[in-house]
Amino acid sequence: MTRPAPRGQCRQCWEHAHNSRRIHKHLAPRENCPECVNHMTNGHPHHMTAK
Ligand SMILES: [Zn+2]
Ligand SMILES: [Zn+2]
Repeated sequence: MTRPAPRGQCRQCWEHAHNSRRIHKHLAPRENCPECVNHMTNGHPHHMTAK
């Protein structure tokens, strides 16, 4: 089941957190993949924000 990212949420981070958990499966709990870390460090790109 996929849920669309709510308005204002980063689509990539939402996807990873809710719809594509296997992307994070190999990571420790609460650990993030490089893409998500990049977003946390540099901010979420505007074109990836749901509107
Ligand atoms: Zn993001
Ligand atoms: Zn991720």
